[in-house]
Amino acid sequence: PLPVVAVVGRPNVGKSTLVNRILGRREAVVEDVPGVTRDRVAYDGEWTGRRFTLVDTGGWEIDATGIHLRVAEQAEVAVDLADVVMFVVDATVGATDDDEAVVKLLRRSGKPVILVANKVDDQRTEADAAALWNLGLGQPWPVSALHGRGSGDVLDAVLDVL
Ligand code: GDP
Ligand code: MG
Repeated sequence: PLPVVAVVGRPNVGKSTLVNRILGRREAVVEDVPGVTRDRVAYDGEWTGRRFTLVDTGGWEIDATGIHLRVAEQAEVAVDLADVVMFVVDATVGATDDDEAVVKLLRRSGKPVILVANKVDDQRTEADAAALWNLGLGQPWPVSALHGRGSGDVLDAVLDVL
């Protein structure tokens, strides 16, 4: 079996956009409406000749109920299955209480975490990414999933821990 990379984070931070960027094709569903990816969805990806399974998840809301609870449970399953977790934060919003709560769950999981500071579309937003050092997950990797900025560097970091 291939190593598993799980992509988790709040709704609308750009998880599915990042998955498509990594795959180099449009398979994960991207929506302006939060919470479109209900279940975890697995795709086979490749980077610098190394193959892995990439798992997209729905938005991880901590106090979720109803359908959102199901979505959150799927994110936890994805983390359980993962060899490494890409935790995606919207750098332009900054760390929210939900992000902080996810950090706690990720710590408890003991899985290696790569912190993706997404929506860093240009140089101006680099400082927003640096602010995410406060999450205590090590280096925030500035990425624009939309434009591809930084996506190669963060993938190198992911493969480094596999
Ligand atoms: P998900 O709910 O976390 O899977 O988020 P999506 O991938 O569906 O993206 C949510 C919204 O954020 C969409 O409108 C995307 O186009 C937008 N988005 C995703 N990545 C970026 C990025 O790097 N920069 C900008 N400016 N917008 C992004
Ligand atoms: Mg999605």
